[in-house]
Amino acid sequence: MSGFVEKPQPAQVPGLVHLHTGKVRDLYRNGDGHLVMVASDRISAYDWVLPTEIPDKGRVLTQLSLWWFDQLVDLLPHHVLSTEPPAGAPEDWKGRTLVCRALDMVPVECVARGYLTGSGFAEYQQTRTVCGLALPEGLEDGSRLPSPIFTPATKAEVGEHDENVTYEEVARQVGAETATLLRQHTLALYSRAGEIAEERGIILADTKFEFGFAGGELVIADEVLTPDSSRFWPADQWQPGRAQPSFDKQYVRDWLTGPDSGWDRTSEEPPPPLPPQVVEQTRAKYVEAYRLLTGTPWE
Ligand code: ATP
Ligand code: MG
Repeated sequence: MSGFVEKPQPAQVPGLVHLHTGKVRDLYRNGDGHLVMVASDRISAYDWVLPTEIPDKGRVLTQLSLWWFDQLVDLLPHHVLSTEPPAGAPEDWKGRTLVCRALDMVPVECVARGYLTGSGFAEYQQTRTVCGLALPEGLEDGSRLPSPIFTPATKAEVGEHDENVTYEEVARQVGAETATLLRQHTLALYSRAGEIAEERGIILADTKFEFGFAGGELVIADEVLTPDSSRFWPADQWQPGRAQPSFDKQYVRDWLTGPDSGWDRTSEEPPPPLPPQVVEQTRAKYVEAYRLLTGTPWE
């Protein structure tokens, strides 16, 4: 089982049409035809959107994404037009709203991996390949790859896992020319971001980008390089051969799978609410990630 423990109710704002509620964000269209993305404080773990929110998470991730867009803008334009919440929006939308160009989205989750873990490692164990790419023998969970690889996936519904696909499959779906662009830009963006993170003592193990077209121009969409779209590992604790500590969600995972939660991950039961100290520790990790990466304290 997976999905929402409690299905969130999107806010009603005059002039906005609600389009979609994802695990973490709510999506609207405004009167100009632009996309309004609002990042909530929802958090997911073990395929569940938990019943407890992490205060400020949506704001921290929105500001982090904006900071990254800035670091990458000489490589590729991004979709953000404004951070101003629309008139009549809840006060709470400040800092968590992105007004974006509505793009013609490329329906591919463009993942770059510099390290092997998660679904990539699972696939490697079965086949010694990831998304059809042959990898050397002897890699472990968390191993650094000889060089970063493009491992695209197709989007899944809430509660389903994205499915890794080969590059050839992407080329069939979107055309060879676009597939080439996706791979090239995904790897270039990953390598830039990985260098920036590394300078700050953080390993960017993998990350997911989404792209769209505006006219003929490729544009970075969605959110970028947040802990929700990426795996960040503290470099000084990196140790291949085991699951790496998750920068942001470790307290949540440890508590949910530990004795105090009373929850059985393998059951059909939804996870219980998080206790206040787990919420506070987790909030502190998001704030710390923001500070470490941007070099600016979260006020
Ligand atoms: P998940 O919570 O697992 O990510 P989801 O992808 O359904 O689920 P969101 O990520 O919140 O939920 O949804 C954002 C949607 O908006 C995605 O479908 C994404 O592709 C789309 N999107 C992002 N930026 C743009 C854009 N500039 N123009 C059009 N669509 C966009
Ligand atoms: Mg998404």
